[in-house]
Amino acid sequence: MFDLTGRVAIVTGANTGIGQAIAIALAAAGADIAAVGRTPAEDTAERIHAMGRKVGLIAADLSRASPAGRIVAETVERLGGLDILVNNAGIIRRADAVDFTEADWDAVMDTNLKSAFFLSQAAARTMLPKGRGKIINIASMLTFQGGIRVASYTAAKSGIGGLTKLLANEWASSGINVNAIAPGYIATNNTRALRDDATRHQLILDRIPAHRWGEPEDLGGAAVFLASSAADYVHGHILAVDGGWLAR
Ligand code: NAP
Repeated sequence: MFDLTGRVAIVTGANTGIGQAIAIALAAAGADIAAVGRTPAEDTAERIHAMGRKVGLIAADLSRASPAGRIVAETVERLGGLDILVNNAGIIRRADAVDFTEADWDAVMDTNLKSAFFLSQAAARTMLPKGRGKIINIASMLTFQGGIRVASYTAAKSGIGGLTKLLANEWASSGINVNAIAPGYIATNNTRALRDDATRHQLILDRIPAHRWGEPEDLGGAAVFLASSAADYVHGHILAVDGGWLAR
């Protein structure tokens, strides 16, 4: 039920952090991986090759005018198809709302939200004729909560929640499952500033019922589930993997 043998997955931002862990988990379940990003995912590729799976490294800056059509075309050409899309690449900018710049607004919205929509659109154009496909967006606790000093990130991740449901509504009857994973506080580059601030680090830790920060590998099981036939009747869901954070 969780076997992904013969499937091809695009994972954006697969060189590090959550994207790397998800790419490796999908490959361990049998999928070949198109690793998309601006930094080549060479370490990820090496680890996936060692499992006997194929990897296509696709260079793309997702903050630019959408390279979505090219990414999907290259994936199909190099790996023979497209079954799974994981919209993972993302950035964060921190500043008080009163000082927040237009540049920090646009950079985050373009990378985290606009690119997820246009990649989903390009993927669906390949998946719809086949009547099958899985799209997984990486959401956040800030899909549900307000956060602080991260205006464009909260707007983008809240947008990811709405987009996940809209695309599920449009494509569920055509065999495409669109869902999201909302990670809690995970130890990656994205959260380095929080972890380097001893006070914020401890405050966050104390609020997590599991009483530990998550590791990127904690996201692998949820991604394999949503990418597999085990989730064929799961549509428009945002699955929190958060050590219980939202339960507080
Ligand atoms: P990360 O280690 O900083 O990884 C971010 C990835 O996105 C990197 O591969 C990065 O590539 C890529 N990326 C950024 N801008 C890009 C661009 N313009 N074009 C192409 N690729 C780009 O952080 P992470 O925590 O794993 O983040 C992955 C996702 O999880 C993000 O969507 C983030 O918002 C989300 N998330 C993280 C947490 C957490 O606690 N860590 C919680 C909730 C949600 P480079 O290495 O080239 O920059």
